[in-house]
Amino acid sequence: MTEPSGSQKKRIPALEVTSLTRSFGELHALKKISWSVDEGSWWGVIGPNGSGKSTLLHLLSGVDRPTAGNVHIYGKKAGSYSRKELSRLVAVLQQEGLPPVGYTVREVVEMGRYPHQDWLGREKGVDVGLITDRVLKRLGLAPLADRALDHLSGGQRQRVALAKVMVQEPQILLLDEPTTYLDLRYQLEFMELLAEWRQETGVTIIAVLHDLNLTAQFCENLLVLKDGMVEGLGASADLLTEERIRRVYEVEPVMLPHPDSGVPQLLLRRNVRRAADQ
Ligand code: ADP
Ligand code: MG
Repeated sequence: MTEPSGSQKKRIPALEVTSLTRSFGELHALKKISWSVDEGSWWGVIGPNGSGKSTLLHLLSGVDRPTAGNVHIYGKKAGSYSRKELSRLVAVLQQEGLPPVGYTVREVVEMGRYPHQDWLGREKGVDVGLITDRVLKRLGLAPLADRALDHLSGGQRQRVALAKVMVQEPQILLLDEPTTYLDLRYQLEFMELLAEWRQETGVTIIAVLHDLNLTAQFCENLLVLKDGMVEGLGASADLLTEERIRRVYEVEPVMLPHPDSGVPQLLLRRNVRRAADQ
């Protein structure tokens, strides 16, 4: 797989959800979501707090089961894969990618191979040390390899989380607000590393992101959620309109084209009445 998007023949979608519903008692966190994700595509999932983004990711990664509807991964029901099979296909990177427990960087990154190993931790024909070294070097983590995770900055820890996922070599990567605690430079760096990796491997990426400006620059497609329902689905450039942002987030936006690429970028107007009070 070298091309990020399937150009020749129609392939089975990497991920497909049909009428996906998840309720918690009376609360309907997701309502009849239908969505198809082509192999190699990069989707952003956006929406206000509580709109169901994390719930959706939990269903896609198999840690949670739907109340109704289906998740298919490469044409097979998610529930029909064993846990290990599923984690060979799908990797998850959380907001705070890794707990700062007493492992070293190298140890944590090597754990990324678990889904490929037998119960004795063996894997035929693969030199885990070598794969790990390569990824550590690539992410500039080699000098930190023997450092304990709790002695790293947030930005470095998030890079270790990415290294672990890269060593895992999944077909699909799910990210839940991976840049939330990073400063501007690390946010951009993180997204660039993802973009490069995707370019090389064709990995399918689904990322819940809060920063709509970064989202517009990196994700070609968007799933917009509001109150557990699909509010928009398709090309980011088409979906990121003032009207939709106003409706979904209840703010007063101004959209401008990015001077480099022309993709929509967002400014916020202050609440007119409150601003006038000051
Ligand atoms: P988001 O990630 O978009 O902020 P979530 O998917 O976390 O939203 O939550 C969607 C809704 O489902 C929220 O109202 C949340 O309180 C509710 N919810 C999520 N998980 C649970 C749970 N395990 N039990 C009860 N309610 C939940
Ligand atoms: Mg969430």
